[in-house]
Amino acid sequence: MNEYIKDTMEMTDFIRRSPSPYHVIRNITSELEAAGFERLTEKKPFSLQKGHSYYVTRNSSSVIAFRIPEKFMGFSIAAAHTDSPCFRIKPSCEAENHGYTRLNVEKYGGMLMAPWFDRPLSIAGRVFVNKDGNPEERLFETDGPAVSIVNLAIHQNRDANNGIKYSVQKELMPIFAQDAPKGSFRSFVASRLGVREDDILDWDLCLSDTTPPAVWGREKEFFSSPRIDDLQCAHSAFRALKETEPKDRISMIALFDNEEVGSGTGQGALSDFLSSVTDRILLSLGAIGEERYLHLASSFMISADNGHAVHPNYAEKSDITNSPRLNGGILIKYSANQKYTTDASTGSELKSLMNANGIPYQVFVNNSDVLGGSTLGNLSIQKVSVRTADIGVAQLAMHSPYECGGTKDTTALLSLFRAFLSL
Ligand code: ZN
Repeated sequence: MNEYIKDTMEMTDFIRRSPSPYHVIRNITSELEAAGFERLTEKKPFSLQKGHSYYVTRNSSSVIAFRIPEKFMGFSIAAAHTDSPCFRIKPSCEAENHGYTRLNVEKYGGMLMAPWFDRPLSIAGRVFVNKDGNPEERLFETDGPAVSIVNLAIHQNRDANNGIKYSVQKELMPIFAQDAPKGSFRSFVASRLGVREDDILDWDLCLSDTTPPAVWGREKEFFSSPRIDDLQCAHSAFRALKETEPKDRISMIALFDNEEVGSGTGQGALSDFLSSVTDRILLSLGAIGEERYLHLASSFMISADNGHAVHPNYAEKSDITNSPRLNGGILIKYSANQKYTTDASTGSELKSLMNANGIPYQVFVNNSDVLGGSTLGNLSIQKVSVRTADIGVAQLAMHSPYECGGTKDTTALLSLFRAFLSL
């Protein structure tokens, strides 16, 4: 098997095991610990040593991990996000109709809704249970599919192929059970956790497509998987941090939750998570006063979030002179309105690094008549204003429950992050 298919499958295996941001963090932190990273908590003073590696989480859904070389000036930060659009289960969620128990859900983020129909969906996230009078956080994942959002037959809606406006409250309710007693979902969750129903205090649960990732195409050029946006970037950054040693800067990954809903939460890119952690690192290592500013001025951040490849069926939606393709390498993202942070200065620095390391790259700019999406780089630098460039790799079907990418691009991402985090 060639290297890029191996890299893609390692990444999609991680995605398959990470059906919610809480699972992303659990999987990353357990591998970081096995690689010798020491756990910090924001509730205790940071007592750091040069030559050591650490990680700290917030809300169990965002993580910052870093390696400190013996001598350093500034940070190399690779940022990405841990969340993906999905349906979240409401606190009181059972809705009965004609003997079916459906679950009442709401949208998390902006997704393509049609592809969510008729898929085997698991339920995953976290549940807080009562432990001796205090809440205890437990990861939750059903053993395989537990619900499905089922389509209406074409015979009962002849307009089904003429464009549909979906009502989430009416049409996107997943079916969970038939002829089940009231309270059956809560007892289902409780029995899987081995607790009493009354001991369930609260949950953050989402639906996740269980269709296994697949590599496909004439020469296996393509792959499909849930949550490529943005776990392709998050996993590659994490893997590169684990595999490299920093030289002249503290190497760091900052993986934030809640990008898909605007990042404005206590653990999102707009929070003080990154600024407080970088401050506390410098404080603990004695880099205070004037020296703190020297470190920040010498830092660089790569904000990594996937972008759109030109779609052969809708080529008019891409820019006419900057239309990236799958398997074309790193996407450097530009926006005149500064939705992406890259400018000629940070773009040049990034290109120099990629040229020196033989990493393929291409450019992404939105078609001038297409609004495009947002990301986390331009939000994060409002809190930690280091020099930043926005990148990603190209993909198709963004925000479908089952997205599509190019198999060669994960290897390009890994090469970039390995080079960047060894600076
Ligand atoms: Zn994204």
